[in-house]
Amino acid sequence: MKGNIGVTTDNIFPVIKKFLYSDHEIFLRELVSNAVDATQKLKTLASVGDYKGEMGDLKVEVKLDAKKKTLTISDRGVGMTADEIEKYINQIAFSGATEFLDKYKNDANAIIGHFGLGFYSAFMVSKQVEIFTKSYTDAPAQHWSCDGSPEYTLEECDKAERGTDIVLHIDDENKDFLEESRMHTLLTKYCKFLPVPIVFGKKKEWKDGKEVETADDNVINNTTPAWTRKPADLKDEDYAKFYRELYPYGEEPLFHIHLNVDYPFNLTGILYFPRIKNNIDLQRNKIQLYCNQVFVTDSVEGIVPDFLTLLHGVIDSPDIPLNVSRSYLQSDQNVKKISTHITKKVADRLQEIFKNDRAQFEEKWDALRIFIVYGMLTDEKFFDRAKDFALFKNVDGKCFTFDEYKELIKAEQTDKDGNLIYLYANNADEQHTYIEAAKAKGYDVLLMDGQLDAHWLSQLEQKNEKLRFVRVDSDVVEKLIVKADAAKVALTAAQQDALTEVFKSQLPTLDKTEFVVTMEQLSADDQPIVITQNEWMRRMKDMAATGGNPMMGFYGEMPNSYNVVLNTAHPLIDGVLRAEEQACADNVSPIAQEIADLEKRRNALKDGQKGKKDEEIPVAEKEEIDTIDKKVGELRDRKKTVYAEFATTQPRVKQLIDLALLANNMLKGKDLADFVKRSVSLLQ
Ligand code: ADP
Repeated sequence: MKGNIGVTTDNIFPVIKKFLYSDHEIFLRELVSNAVDATQKLKTLASVGDYKGEMGDLKVEVKLDAKKKTLTISDRGVGMTADEIEKYINQIAFSGATEFLDKYKNDANAIIGHFGLGFYSAFMVSKQVEIFTKSYTDAPAQHWSCDGSPEYTLEECDKAERGTDIVLHIDDENKDFLEESRMHTLLTKYCKFLPVPIVFGKKKEWKDGKEVETADDNVINNTTPAWTRKPADLKDEDYAKFYRELYPYGEEPLFHIHLNVDYPFNLTGILYFPRIKNNIDLQRNKIQLYCNQVFVTDSVEGIVPDFLTLLHGVIDSPDIPLNVSRSYLQSDQNVKKISTHITKKVADRLQEIFKNDRAQFEEKWDALRIFIVYGMLTDEKFFDRAKDFALFKNVDGKCFTFDEYKELIKAEQTDKDGNLIYLYANNADEQHTYIEAAKAKGYDVLLMDGQLDAHWLSQLEQKNEKLRFVRVDSDVVEKLIVKADAAKVALTAAQQDALTEVFKSQLPTLDKTEFVVTMEQLSADDQPIVITQNEWMRRMKDMAATGGNPMMGFYGEMPNSYNVVLNTAHPLIDGVLRAEEQACADNVSPIAQEIADLEKRRNALKDGQKGKKDEEIPVAEKEEIDTIDKKVGELRDRKKTVYAEFATTQPRVKQLIDLALLANNMLKGKDLADFVKRSVSLLQ
């Protein structure tokens, strides 16, 4: 018999070939899944007594014939009668095609799902497809053949065994599907955990230095993977073994979570918290999504919450609509529920480990924190759960829950406005001096060196009104936690000006760096100079560096601004001031006097102009003020030069600055070499 395939457009095959140019390989998944379905159906019929014959060896076989250029998929399932072929194969619903195809031309999954085209995906790689099938009923065996035109032939044939053989005559463009190694890779990818044994050739072994075939079937898959078994039947080593089955080269994971849901949707799976060494690991091993043990995809974005895409493992659900486009998936209500549920399960499990085995939890915290912090940042519900088990770790390696930490620092680290100040370092070595100073004052310092910590601490501040994070090096230790109003600097304006200019003249010029000299009346025991970086500004730059908000780019471009804080209570700073007063007085006094006189005259002129409109002021007067301003500018520059010249006679100025830079890990290259030389000569 001959006939035309029932499609409403002229010819489906060019469409299949043309539009499904990506993902050709999924034809294999579709055909093997059909074979598995047919096998499962037979088992079901037998179990309810509707089929009473021999079951035989219920396996699916995949065979290559390089000479004939065929790929054959055989099963011993229910088979098809002529009527069934007519109904299931020949009639394809195919309406509204053009528009849909246009939209989803790169998404073979969506197209196949939309049109129920699983079987026809065979034409993506074949010039001719044949079906040899014998139904489990007594109906005669059938041979169907089609060469890629809408015409097909259907006739009875001799096939002794129940089941179906699908024979693909692979076309020239897709020859690679005839290679054994390629087929092996694909079968491993799509069929690794199918519930019916998938056989591909015979097992091989090494004999006398040669690889030879044995009599045993080469079974590709594990038909009862761990996630399909009951959690109660599995031990830790079973989970570890399954992880290796999934990722043969992966490091041993931290924890596993067995998901097992049957209401309001069906979902099983095992997720693992991996050990992450670097960003490459993050990309490589991904969560795999299965539908009744058929591999569907390893890009699960939209199905599990973003932060959990970092986990490894398997999710299997018949309720996730798989043969649809991604955008549809992301708006699907069922999928949203699944996502919420997985988040909850993950939080439950972490909570449980924290409660039952806190020592283990703490030990693994460094590896876990990236997931937990990412989750807290991106998922409100997860934040609410995680705030009970997320940990702060201090520079001595001690861990605290949020509540415990609050208790610990409450007494010492509350400022005069009632804010709790959380001191932190993000590099214990570089900030060593500051950490020691803070500890000496009885403060605790957290280590916040995680990739997402800059964002995390902003979040924690937003959620707790009376909480501030302050990096240990963002100010001199006295001012990190302001407990009372600070002591006033006991210097005149002229003295402050002199000190500022002397030190300013000796500061290095560094790329993208800006220094501002300020003064604090600290104590004589404190360092003479401390370099600090404004907490807020630095954090903006940190966040810009880890990306996320495009607005942040602006801060990334700004120079780093540092405060060079002179401790006016320190004898060395005082010494510089005294020396300056002696050395510069003769030069500076007349200049200062001149400036004072000019400013007096300027003030007098300005006073006289009060209340007058601009046009009422004589031009000569305006010109005089301009001249005064210019002159004062020149005089100030002259004064600066005097201070700068003085500074060059004072190696200790440069030395003090370099010591402060050194403590901040900012003294490099030639500056460092000069410092060493100068130190030696100062000792002589
Ligand atoms: P779907 O599998 O989504 O229903 P397909 O185009 O893949 O769509 O298959 C259409 C139908 O053809 C199947 O539902 C099944 O009834 C029948 N069929 C396909 N392959 C086989 C097979 N190997 N054995 C028995 N029936 C099959």
